[in-house]
Amino acid sequence: MEDWQEILHNSVISCTDLQQHLQCDTSGIEEVITRYPMRINPYFLSLIRSPQDPLWKQAVPDLRELTDTICLPDPLAEEALSPVPLLVHKYPDRVLFLVSNQCAMYCRFCTRKRMVGTSRMQISEESLQKGYDYIRRHPDIREVLLSGGDPLLLSDEKIAGILKSLRAIPSVEVIRIGSRVPSTLPMRITEKLVAILKEFHPLYINTHFNHPNEITPEATEACRRLADAGIPLGSQTVLLRGVNDHIDTIRTLMRALLRIRVKPYYLFQADLTEGTNHFRTSTQAGISIMKGLYGHLSGMAVPTFALDAPGGKGKIPLTPQYILEQGENLTFANYLGELCTYPEAIDTF
Ligand SMILES: *Cc1c(COP(=O)(O)O)cnc(C)c1O
Ligand code: SF4
Repeated sequence: MEDWQEILHNSVISCTDLQQHLQCDTSGIEEVITRYPMRINPYFLSLIRSPQDPLWKQAVPDLRELTDTICLPDPLAEEALSPVPLLVHKYPDRVLFLVSNQCAMYCRFCTRKRMVGTSRMQISEESLQKGYDYIRRHPDIREVLLSGGDPLLLSDEKIAGILKSLRAIPSVEVIRIGSRVPSTLPMRITEKLVAILKEFHPLYINTHFNHPNEITPEATEACRRLADAGIPLGSQTVLLRGVNDHIDTIRTLMRALLRIRVKPYYLFQADLTEGTNHFRTSTQAGISIMKGLYGHLSGMAVPTFALDAPGGKGKIPLTPQYILEQGENLTFANYLGELCTYPEAIDTF
């Protein structure tokens, strides 16, 4: 077994483990984890500093997961938008291909919590082949976004096999991997894995950091290895109540991401996923946070705040309103709230 596999093997997965390691009240938790599995690996466990801290809330099951009556099992209609199982074709030029049902930790707020880590998500050689066939038959697909679960929890051989199959399809220009491993199990980013990944450029990785406490020396090293292999790194952060819904936390996180060579890509409004309602913030809270980023921080540290529209309607950017009036003159406020005007040019077509 490789080191990372051994670490994973020692994860907290039962109420007994939870009681032993975090000394918390586990009444009712058994029922939660029967429905939505728990996995807190020793690395992530070591980053939890106190009960109910931002990392605890992301990892430790909560009774409210079972009493949510507002949200939906599949809010993004991914199942309806799958022409073949586990491949979501929502936008014309790119697809989302689910190739793993395992993660290094099961985030309590996961959009696919209805199936990730459970038998309801069955990845097989057959589902992979069906995906490759679909992509081959649709040459408009220029980009394949590998997700899951976490694709980087597959073995090196499986990852190499998937990348090779995709690279054998000439219309696939770009491969993007979505992985939370750099923040939840950075030791998975071995030199051997990186040597495999770099054979398949142009390859991008979007990772997922939610709190400054996740930016550790180990995470820094994982991102250094990936970036040194020429893999551009982005982060998809989820705005979560009680975890990171504060301007200082988001500013600190975005700056820290740039330092470890990760470009903030999206800040997501939490999806309407059943079992996660207690994590949702108002969209206004997110827009206010964005107002505290634009202009105040390096433009490179500013992600797009986006809401993934229910029903699979796509990602909608939510931006603070800077334009106050649009006519002969454009009137707007800058990041400090100062009013400015700009005389419109006349378009003659
Ligand atoms: C989010 C998503 C993508 C990628 O969208 P980008 O805006 O390019 O990051 C692609 N397909 C599906 C189904 C998605 O949900
Ligand atoms: S790593 Fe991603 S897919 Fe896995 S549980 Fe967390 S949010 Fe869900």
